[in-house]
Amino acid sequence: MTAVADLMDYAEVVERYDPVLGLEVHVELNTNTKMFCGCANEFGGEPNTHVCPTCLGLPGALPVLNGKGVESAIRIGLALNCEIAEWCRFARKNYFYPDMPKNFQTSQYDEPIAFNGYLDVTLDDGEVVRVEIERAHMEEDTGKSLHVGGATGRIHGADYSLLDYNRAGVPLIEIVTKPITGTGSRAPEVARAYVSTLRDLLRALDVSDVRMDQGSLRCDANVSLMPRGATEFGTRTETKNVNSLRSVERAVRYEMTRQAAVLADGGKIKQETRHFQEADGTTSSGRTKETAEDYRYFPEPDLVPIAPSREWVEQLRATLPELPSERRKRIQAEWSLSDEALRDLLNVGAVDLVAATVEAGASPNEARGWWVSTLAQEANSRGVELADLPITPKQVAEVIALVSSGELTNKLAKEVVQGVLAGEGEPREVVEKRGLKVVSDDSALLAAVDEALAAQPDIADKIRGGKVQAAGAIVGAVMKATKGQADAKRVRELIIERVGA
Ligand SMILES: [Zn+2]
Repeated sequence: MTAVADLMDYAEVVERYDPVLGLEVHVELNTNTKMFCGCANEFGGEPNTHVCPTCLGLPGALPVLNGKGVESAIRIGLALNCEIAEWCRFARKNYFYPDMPKNFQTSQYDEPIAFNGYLDVTLDDGEVVRVEIERAHMEEDTGKSLHVGGATGRIHGADYSLLDYNRAGVPLIEIVTKPITGTGSRAPEVARAYVSTLRDLLRALDVSDVRMDQGSLRCDANVSLMPRGATEFGTRTETKNVNSLRSVERAVRYEMTRQAAVLADGGKIKQETRHFQEADGTTSSGRTKETAEDYRYFPEPDLVPIAPSREWVEQLRATLPELPSERRKRIQAEWSLSDEALRDLLNVGAVDLVAATVEAGASPNEARGWWVSTLAQEANSRGVELADLPITPKQVAEVIALVSSGELTNKLAKEVVQGVLAGEGEPREVVEKRGLKVVSDDSALLAAVDEALAAQPDIADKIRGGKVQAAGAIVGAVMKATKGQADAKRVRELIIERVGA
């Protein structure tokens, strides 16, 4: 492991070097079946229960291409503004690894199905960076190895290894960027924003469940440095399978500070794969990186070439949903949001939740208020994503409706939301159980008003003398007496009535 002393201060790194990024994202498609056989494409399951002779690579078993997988690949390509190949083939990528039973991966090499695209990425401060897409190609996932014994869970030091082929043959799309240059100190942020934007896009396309924590979206980050102003790229490292957005940012930043220290010391960067350590945010050396020649690619003889007709491609283009970036623009206009308000929404991951709350009948402003303040704070203190809070947009809309109809005050509404979050049921049930109804019965309120006026006769005189704003103190006393369950507006009216002002 690299010691902290072997890292260069980040400010110095970006002063002396220009980073170049290359991001490779693997996304598992959510097709019902695997890419080349009829086995179920499901996450988990008892080991080796979603397998057949084809995905186990048994001799004589032949692959059959999953049409839905090709359809998803084309839709992804179109959403990434790519050209779609008129004719392309699969290729065998040969290498031995125990979790790959055929000893080759069915992939695409020099004939990807989609190529030459781009994705516009908006950074936190609103700056837009265009990331050029080199290609998006189809391939299959490998099985999974589980190394048992040993401290690290890695193969080194393990007592034995277990293999699960349920994932072998699951459809994958690999999306590869062209070198991303010119981002300077913002390179780590650009990397995170790119993966985040891509994830949103893939989710909108409904082609994958894009769960980084379950590995259905994985990012490999290529990073190299070159002296400021140079044009020839430095040697890159590839940090594999970084499994959260935050880790993508941290891994890129760490590699920049590590490589800069090596280069400044007159050393050379080794072209290799590296592993990211979640615990301390460092990367460690993996294997020496193979070059394409090592894989002895050749066209897959067991699968026919794919020649998607232009009519089909256009049909698929027509199925593209409103893309997240366009949707954001529309929402901003419809809800009259400032750039800053939109950014707040995006930063807490509340756009979809607010949209769903508006859909359920709330006004955009009120819906936004709940999600961006109270609920975002709650999510933050629980350390979960906003969307994972145990309250639905529909329930939030219901609470907002109860406030609008005067059945709840804002203060009571907060209590109701706490009740829903605590699992006490639907908002109305919480209102019942906790007895949170607004006291709007005038006779009950009048009793409290009279009591408060009697307790503060000098204030009663002031109000009577025309100082209506003095009523605030009496309203406060009544609210206190009714434990906040009174309708403050009605209380004020009753006070004025009572003193005859
Ligand atoms: Zn199978």
